[in-house]
Amino acid sequence: MSKNVRVRFAPSPTGPLHIGGVRTALFNYLFAKKHGGDFVLRIEDTDQNRYVEGAEKYIVDALNWCGIPFDEGPGKNEKFGPYRQSERKDLYKQYADQLIAEGKAYYAFDTPEQLDAHRKDHEANGKTFIYNWHNREKGRLVNSLVLSEEETKAKIDAGEHFVVRFKSPKDETLHLKDIIRGDISIDTNVLDDKILFKSDGMPTYHLANIVDDHLMQITHVIRGEEWLPSLALHQLLYNAFGWEAPQFAHLPLILKPEPTTYVNKNSAEKFIDIYTKEALEEFDYSEAEIKKLIRLIFENPKNISQSIRINEKKDSKIKKDIKGLLKKGLYGKLSKRDGDKIGFPVFPLAWTEPKTNEVSRGYKEDGYFSEAVVNFLAFLGWNPGTEQEIFSLEQLVNDFDLERVNKAGARFDPDKTKWFNHHYMQQQLDLALAEQFKSTQPELQDIDINYIALVIGLIKERATFVNDFWGLSHFFFVSPESYDEKASKKAIKEGTIELMQKVIDIVSVTREFTVQNLQSKLKGWITENNIGFGKVMMPLRLALVGELQGPDVFEIMFLIGKNETVKRIDALVNSIK
Ligand code: GLU
Repeated sequence: MSKNVRVRFAPSPTGPLHIGGVRTALFNYLFAKKHGGDFVLRIEDTDQNRYVEGAEKYIVDALNWCGIPFDEGPGKNEKFGPYRQSERKDLYKQYADQLIAEGKAYYAFDTPEQLDAHRKDHEANGKTFIYNWHNREKGRLVNSLVLSEEETKAKIDAGEHFVVRFKSPKDETLHLKDIIRGDISIDTNVLDDKILFKSDGMPTYHLANIVDDHLMQITHVIRGEEWLPSLALHQLLYNAFGWEAPQFAHLPLILKPEPTTYVNKNSAEKFIDIYTKEALEEFDYSEAEIKKLIRLIFENPKNISQSIRINEKKDSKIKKDIKGLLKKGLYGKLSKRDGDKIGFPVFPLAWTEPKTNEVSRGYKEDGYFSEAVVNFLAFLGWNPGTEQEIFSLEQLVNDFDLERVNKAGARFDPDKTKWFNHHYMQQQLDLALAEQFKSTQPELQDIDINYIALVIGLIKERATFVNDFWGLSHFFFVSPESYDEKASKKAIKEGTIELMQKVIDIVSVTREFTVQNLQSKLKGWITENNIGFGKVMMPLRLALVGELQGPDVFEIMFLIGKNETVKRIDALVNSIK
């Protein structure tokens, strides 16, 4: 690549960054770093009505947490700044003016009411209203293409609201290129004359985005598939200005998780209720009718995808409607609401909605390691072409390639995220995990950090989150208060008391209290006397843990120490007597 690679992540601060946005940022970051380029953060806040307090800070915090900080952006390395579009406001007008002067854009004065009337007229005739070459100069629409120069000026001077529209060309075929999707041809006749600028002095997304990508010398635009329909207009704008366009790559959509991973006999009822409610909001059928149909579909959770396939010939209208709704709800694009519905975070960090104080869960607060989140996001649309799944950020930078990004939507898999987290948990230092564990568990405040680290070394294999630690390890810190009923039935038999008393004797005289020593002494005694391992090990485990789970019994004895071991066996014996 000859030019210095410069990419940008250009979110609008309309709320917390969705996990799909983080994926876009990540792919931009990886591409930039792979080519030794720059990763720019630009805040696209031209739509002040949708501005949400705190969203920009959230975006920056999220990128930092993921370990993908921007090189240039608000408050950092402002070579091409400012990086907030609201602070660049005065810059855009001259570009809109330039296009008007060159006859490539025009003023339009149609009021929202007039446009609405046109829309309704068209609908009544079964048509769709598009503002473009076929009607812009016919006289029914009010714009500078039909008004005289004086009339146009008079309207503007009188303070009438106007917009500047791009004059999409007629009868041209546009040849577009997308790194992921290949060649795309578009007939310009289907394009509408998009609004570029408004009389309140604000540009729309399209104009601001093009102007800024040009001025910031962006070489590659990597963004979500939802922007693909804008590509033709963007290319036309580059052509109109006589600027070289960047290269484009539109990333695949992120789809909802496969319903079979979370709908089962137990949870089906919850989803029947959710979708019945949604259907009631959308359609006029009775609740009973809707519920009956939905229940039928959820009856066999494994077959949902077949059950909602619409049979154009056989299905009644209600069936088609309900199946259509479920299709969208269960298989469509991952939405911000899916997290709450299905029970996993869709945001990197927790977010408190400033107006309602409603809190949404975040990966960080739910106990995910950022390495796991990054690794799993990388696989949403990309794959290395090998079996390797574990990738550090450095390895991703090394192996990432836009050519290996798929066109097809990538299905989100919350279980896979957990799998990655489990993996990265094993990579963490026990001492680092111990610090985290101690800081969240009040019972551990007076316990030596090195002891906690030893315990973690024994149990982390079975943990996915730091939150799992207490459940897996409480018996290393406090003796059992009771014994699991089922486990007791299984472990306590005739003769258990005597056997446990003997274990106490052996443990008490074991001077070198090591795992190995304990093991060889106890095992030796069991074998010599032909006792049967279960008869000893089960009640012993019950005494130490309170149930029949946990790591190696000898490791537990070693860590809690001789006195505590004897005390616990004694307690079990007393409870049986
Ligand atoms: N502001 C747009 C967004 O919110 C940016 C789209 C683009 O990258 O061009 O996603």
